[in-house]
Amino acid sequence: MSAQAKVPLFRLLPEELEPVMAEFGQPRYRADQVLRAAWHDSPASFEDIRQLPAGLRARLADRFSLDAAIEVRRAVSDDGGTTKLLLRMNDGTLIETVLMQYPEPGDRHPRSTVCVSTQAGCAMGCVFCATGQMGFERNLKAEEIVTQVLHIARLLRERGEHVTNVVFMGMGEPLANYAETIRAVRLLTHPKAFGLGQRHITISTVGLIHAIDRLAGEGLQIGLAISLHAPNDTLRQRLVPTAGPTSVGDLVSAAKRYFKKTGRRVTFEYALIAGQNDSEETARELARLLQGSGTHVNLIPVNPTAGGYGRPPRRTVLAFERVLRGAGINCTVRVEKGSEISAACGQLRTDESNRFVNDSGISLSPVAPRHGSRQETLSPTPSQTR
Ligand code: SAH
Ligand code: SF4
Repeated sequence: MSAQAKVPLFRLLPEELEPVMAEFGQPRYRADQVLRAAWHDSPASFEDIRQLPAGLRARLADRFSLDAAIEVRRAVSDDGGTTKLLLRMNDGTLIETVLMQYPEPGDRHPRSTVCVSTQAGCAMGCVFCATGQMGFERNLKAEEIVTQVLHIARLLRERGEHVTNVVFMGMGEPLANYAETIRAVRLLTHPKAFGLGQRHITISTVGLIHAIDRLAGEGLQIGLAISLHAPNDTLRQRLVPTAGPTSVGDLVSAAKRYFKKTGRRVTFEYALIAGQNDSEETARELARLLQGSGTHVNLIPVNPTAGGYGRPPRRTVLAFERVLRGAGINCTVRVEKGSEISAACGQLRTDESNRFVNDSGISLSPVAPRHGSRQETLSPTPSQTR
């Protein structure tokens, strides 16, 4: 069998691997053994899974691949709390994955949140987002999404830590790559695969209504964040040009339906952009829109990008927050992390990594824009919202 025809093992749900073991004439428990080793021991090849009989190792190697992402570059923030990786997929596609760590009280392991990409580039074109400005390259396969988590899991395991949360807030629009995103969620949460609790996963979407309703019906207990950014349609369409006929009212209704169906409160993400959507009057309008919706607002002071969208001064951010809180809206300001390494989910292949990429002769298509500033801060910490 040619290498291309091999099925990536990390794409398979346990119930899809079990029949293969039967076909190979193996007892049931072999599937569990294979999965446990593959998902938790980072074997470089099937040959490395020594607890399996040699014949089975060879048959597995013939049928399946165990491809891992290649780490092209790593940047760690000064405080060590944020690690940004540039990862190369099999076909050369480059994506970014970020690890954010937060100390826990006492001797407990830090909370370790992995921010994964679901697409290379993005078609949604949000004006303040570096990924959006890149345009769409391609969807990632489920195995390419989970491989990002596996890569970080291995890195953490080497220091006795583990992945505690996964957020789909990296490059791309997860719900525009629906089937692969859901498969990735099922792989990450299956007790016989990666085994993360569903409540430790959050998907962030620009607001694809049909997909949100579909997600609500998946029977999953995952968190949902909707990127709102504006309290009215005129302003939102300026910031999210592909919003089309989806109104802010539609988004609030979808959030309510999601809560009703899943019991999980939705977070609205609101990137605060200087002079665009950061006035106290806009905050009051937002408060009116969200009144009684039972949602949470996460304010994200924007990371400056080439488009010239800047971050409001701290006092403006606090004033915005005060208006929302005063109106009884549940609200947090996202903690900024990793500024000196331009760590940012949703802002990918940064200035620095582009230069590296170009130097190493790997072509990016389309070429990502360079960010205006090396002092970017984004702070993707959805965990702050829980
Ligand atoms: N496509 C999805 C998920 C990826 S973007 C979505 O839009 O929700 C994850 C979050 O990062 C979104 O809330 C997005 O608006 C935000 N984001 C993108 N660019 C940003 C920037 N320059 N500064 C701050 N937040 C940004
Ligand atoms: Fe795509 Fe999200 Fe960036 Fe918008 S903010 S362009 S939806 S990745």
